[in-house]
Amino acid sequence: MFWRIITHTCGHRERISADGPYVVVEQRIRRAERSMCDSCTGHVSRWDNKLLGFCDLWGTQRQCDKAEPIRRRALNRVDALARHARIGERDAFAVLRRQILHRDDAAWWIEHRDDAVEILAQNIEL
Ligand SMILES: [Zn+2]
Repeated sequence: MFWRIITHTCGHRERISADGPYVVVEQRIRRAERSMCDSCTGHVSRWDNKLLGFCDLWGTQRQCDKAEPIRRRALNRVDALARHARIGERDAFAVLRRQILHRDDAAWWIEHRDDAVEILAQNIEL
C-alpha cells in the first residue's frame, strides 16, 4: 500500500491511498485537497441542516448519506419553482417546502430520488 499525506481545505491532514493508476490517484488526491475532511463536512452539513430547517434523517448512516443530497436537490428545485410561482400558488409551495424539510425517512428519499417533488406535490393543490 502506498499513501500520501494531503491537507484538506479545512486544514486537517489525512492519509490518502495512492494505490492505482497514476491518473486515478492524482484525481483522488486533487479531490481530497479541494474538499474538507469527513469530520468537518459532517459538522458543516449538520449545522447547515439546522439553518435550512431540515429534520434529522432516519435510517442507517449509509442511507442518510445517500438521502442527504437528494432532499437538498428537491428543496433547491422547489425554491427555484417557487420563485416563478404566481401569488396564488405561493402557499402551496410553502406546504411543499415544509413537507421536504420534515420528511425524515432516508429510504423514502432514496426510493424517490427522481420523483420526490412530484410525489409530494400530488397531495397538494398546486
Ligand atoms: Zn477538517
